[in-house]
Amino acid sequence: MSGDSRFVAQRIILEVKNMKYDMHSMKAEEFINDAEIRETVAFANEHKNDLALVDEILEKAKKRKGLSHREASVLLACEDEAKVKEIYDLAEQIKKDFYGNRIVLFAPLYLSNYCVNGCLYCPYHLKNKHIPRKKLTQEEVAKEVIALQDMGHKRLAIEAGEDPVNNPIEYILDCIKTIYSIKHKNGAIRRVNVNIAATTVENYTKLKDAGIGTYILFQETYNKENYEVLHPTGPKHDYAYHTEAMDRAMEGGIDDVGIGVLFGLDNYAYEFAGLLMHAEHLEAVHGVGPHTISVPRVKPADDIDPDDFDNSLSDDMFCKIAACIRIAVPYTGMIISTRETPEVREKIIRLGVSQISGGSRTSVGGYAEEERPQDTAQFDVSDCRTLDEVVNWLMRAGYIPSFCTACYREGRTGDRFMELCKSGQIQNCCHPNALMTLKEFLIDYASDDTKRIGEEVIEREIDTIPKEKVREIVRERLVKIADGERDFRF
Ligand code: SAM
Repeated sequence: MSGDSRFVAQRIILEVKNMKYDMHSMKAEEFINDAEIRETVAFANEHKNDLALVDEILEKAKKRKGLSHREASVLLACEDEAKVKEIYDLAEQIKKDFYGNRIVLFAPLYLSNYCVNGCLYCPYHLKNKHIPRKKLTQEEVAKEVIALQDMGHKRLAIEAGEDPVNNPIEYILDCIKTIYSIKHKNGAIRRVNVNIAATTVENYTKLKDAGIGTYILFQETYNKENYEVLHPTGPKHDYAYHTEAMDRAMEGGIDDVGIGVLFGLDNYAYEFAGLLMHAEHLEAVHGVGPHTISVPRVKPADDIDPDDFDNSLSDDMFCKIAACIRIAVPYTGMIISTRETPEVREKIIRLGVSQISGGSRTSVGGYAEEERPQDTAQFDVSDCRTLDEVVNWLMRAGYIPSFCTACYREGRTGDRFMELCKSGQIQNCCHPNALMTLKEFLIDYASDDTKRIGEEVIEREIDTIPKEKVREIVRERLVKIADGERDFRF
C-alpha cells in the first residue's frame, strides 16, 4: 500500500486554527471542517489520475460498505474515461442490489410562503415585496390534500418558509393532523415528511409525536463563509444552529433525517465532501446515517437568477455526483425533484435515485386551484408531467413506481430500516409492497394506457419475489385490492 493510499484509508484528524476535524464532535465547525474539506478537494485533484489509487477505492466500494468522504472525492475528481464508466456501472449495480427497480413517489405540499429569512437564492426572502404572501387555512390544506389524493399520492413532503409568527410549530402540527385526517374516496396520505426550518429539540419531539416520516433540511451550502453571505439576515443566518439541526432532531426522537445541498451555490466538490462528512458524523454519533440525501440544483424563480451564483454545474457532473453518492453511502435513499428535466431525471434515476416527486406544484395552494397563476411558486418546475404520465414513463423505462409507506408505519425506521436494507430482505418486503400499492394506483387513478402497462409490470414482477409464500400472499391480496380492499403491507 502506498503512503497516499494509507492516507486515504486513515481517519484524518487535523489541527488548524484551533479547529479540528472530528466526526464525533457535536460542533458544526468540527464535524464539517473547512480545512479538512479543502485538503480533501486538493488531495482528490492531485490524485484524480492515480489509477492505482482509483482502483483500490473501487475495490473497497465493491464491498458495498461505503467510502469515506476522501475516497469518494477521489472518484468524483477522476477523469479517466474507463474508470468513470466503472464508477457509473458500479453505482447502477449497487442501486439494483439495494433498491431493485422500485422508485418511490411523493409530492411536495407548500403550506406557507411567509418567511423572515433573507436567503439570496429563494424568492420567499423577506425583502421580496412583490410576491403575494399566502398561508393555507386548514380548509385549504384539506382541499390540497383531496387534490393530491385524487392524483394518487400517498406520501407528501410539507414545505414552509420560516416565520415564528405566521408559521409557528402549532400551525405545522395542525396541518399534519389535517393531512392525516382526510379520507377521500379510496385516498389517504400515509406518510408526511417535513421540510421546515431548523428548530428546537422540543419542537422536533412534537413533530415526532405528530407521526411524521422523515425530517428533511437542506444545508444549502456547507461552506460557512459563503453560507453567511447567502443568508445575510434572519434566524437562518446562524450556520452552527442550522448545521447541528439533525443532531437536535435525533435527540428529539426523530429516527429518519434527510440531508441535502442546494447545488449551484458553491463549488460542487466542496459540497460533495461536506455532504458525506455530515453523513459520517450522523452515523458516528447516532449509529445511523441519513435516511435520504437530496440533490436539488438552484433554479430560476421570481427574482432569482441562478447565474448570479456562478457555481452552476453541468448535467454530466450532476449525474456523476449522484453516482458517487450512491457508491459512498449505499444504504441511503436518494431523492430527485421536478427541479430537473425528464431527461436528467431518467439518467440520474438509473445511477442511484430511489425517490422522486411527480405532478408537483411549488406554489402555495397550487394543487386545488388549477387555474391560479404560479405567482407564489418557490422555483420553476422542469418536469411538468402529471403523476399518471410520470408513472407511465417510469414503467416504460423498466421501473416499478411505488407508493409504499410501510416501513415507517411498521416501525422500520432509523437503524431498523438500515438492517432491512443490509439483510437483503427488501426483495421480500419492499418489492411486494410496491406491487400492491401500484395496483391500488392503477385501479383508483390511472389512465387506460397506464393501467394496461401496469398490469403487465405487476404480472412480470410477482415472479421475482424470492419467497414462494410471499408470492402467494401477494396474489391473494391483489385480488382483494381489485375487490375494493386497501392498504395491505408487509
Ligand atoms: N424554509 C425551510 C428552510 O429554511 O430550510 C425549508 C423549506 S424550503 C421551502 C425548501 C428548499 O427549497 C430550501 O431548503 C432550498 O434548498 C430550496 N430552494 C429555495 N430556493 C430555491 C431555488 N431558487 N431553486 C431551487 N431550490 C430552491
